Amino acid sequence: MAVAAPYNEKTDEQKAITEMVHQFADEQILPNAEHFDHEDAFPEDIVEQMKELGLFGVTIPEEYGGMGLDLTTYAMIVEELSRGWISISGVVNTHFIGSYLLMKFGTEEQKQKYLPRMATGEIRAAFSLSEPELGSDVQAIKTSAKKNEDGDYEINGSKMWVTNGLRSTLVFVLVRTDPDADPRYKGLTCFIADKEPGVHENTGPYKGLNVPPQIKKMGYKGVESTELVFDGYRVPAENILGGEEAGLNHGFTQMMDALDLGRVNVAARGVGIAQRALELALRYSQERKTFGKPIAEHQAIQFKLADMATQVDAARLLVLRAARLKDAGERSDLEAGMAKLFASEAGRFCVEESFRIHGGYCYSKEYEIERLYRDAPLLLIGEGTSEIQRMVIGRKLLQRHKI
Ligand SMILES: Cc1cc2nc3c(=O)[nH]c(=O)nc-3n(C[C@H](O)[C@H](O)[C@H](O)COP(=O)(O)OP(=O)(O)OC[C@H]3O[C@@H](n4cnc5c(N)ncnc54)[C@H](O)[C@@H]3O)c2cc1C
Repeated sequence: MAVAAPYNEKTDEQKAITEMVHQFADEQILPNAEHFDHEDAFPEDIVEQMKELGLFGVTIPEEYGGMGLDLTTYAMIVEELSRGWISISGVVNTHFIGSYLLMKFGTEEQKQKYLPRMATGEIRAAFSLSEPELGSDVQAIKTSAKKNEDGDYEINGSKMWVTNGLRSTLVFVLVRTDPDADPRYKGLTCFIADKEPGVHENTGPYKGLNVPPQIKKMGYKGVESTELVFDGYRVPAENILGGEEAGLNHGFTQMMDALDLGRVNVAARGVGIAQRALELALRYSQERKTFGKPIAEHQAIQFKLADMATQVDAARLLVLRAARLKDAGERSDLEAGMAKLFASEAGRFCVEESFRIHGGYCYSKEYEIERLYRDAPLLLIGEGTSEIQRMVIGRKLLQRHKI
């Protein structure tokens, strides 16, 4: 048999950076997550340390002050952060999508204006598609922008579920600029809405953009999810992503491109939470005894562990494949959809199995698995529900295999 090249899942650089983030999760995130979760408090100290580690600029090119790393390495980092607590990856997630939108579609002025400060985490980004009456059906967006005589645009309407909606300094917001567009997606534009971070009622140049109190959630605590109310909010035409000429009515395509990437990101979060659920189950099942032996020695429990470990590894491989294809400049929409669907469902599955293995203690707030049980379902919803992923996968499959 021919001698195969050694199997390397990670490059030396990827090993070094993921080991560093793994240690950061062990030392800084995991010991503090329960506290922030129970208090629903923003993990300010952890975020400050993430800034120092450069984690807000992982994918931002070096010329703008970032690390210039690829999507694959980013996905590995997100897995490690999510293994600690998915709310921590939530603080980075929308920022990552915003920086991708700027890098891919922004004008040079827009890149210069935002990217260097985004790379250090000095300012953070959110993105906003969903509205009170819509999430999956993005093309139905009602929030609208109209051009005034002075050339500025005025935005009116309500947005919903904006992660980092309060503490962000810029929001990539998709709004309707052409009410008569047919098809509907051709009438949507992405604006970069500047705002004051941490302020509920903006004044001065950002007047007309209000952030109601954060939505109370069952899990995914600590990181805020908010509504955004635009009421006569004025924004210059130069804040259209890519500039007015290139960007007007092109927002849907820009956002869908970014969400393709976002699917890999959410999938990596699914792997992280699944991995943590497995770790907790492996430990608890060897400690807890029933009928005279550790429950890990009962075959029914071993089968659960086996199914969980298989799902974790399969999900991780799907994520890495989708990320590597994207990094190689190859088509990856179908693969990103599969990774998101499988890994988010694997997250839910592994957390539930680990929950069962913990018996009655799974219900105690003193056990980490209780938090994971409330956190995991979010991944089935954000950036396209499992139903929507199946629609995307089915459509792409048929496109690729058209007879
Ligand atoms: C904690 C949290 C954070 C979020 N953060 C953000 C954010 O930062 N920015 C942002 O823009 N949005 C965000 N969202 C919103 C999220 O993207 C939407 O909730 C999601 O897209 C689903 O939309 P919806 O809630 O309106 O459900 P709907 O679209 O109303 O769907 C309801 C149900 O119907 C199913 N369904 C819908 N259409 C079809 C169809 N054609 N065929 C079969 N089934 C269908 C769905 O799968 C779902 O089960 C966040 C949501 C949560 C919970």
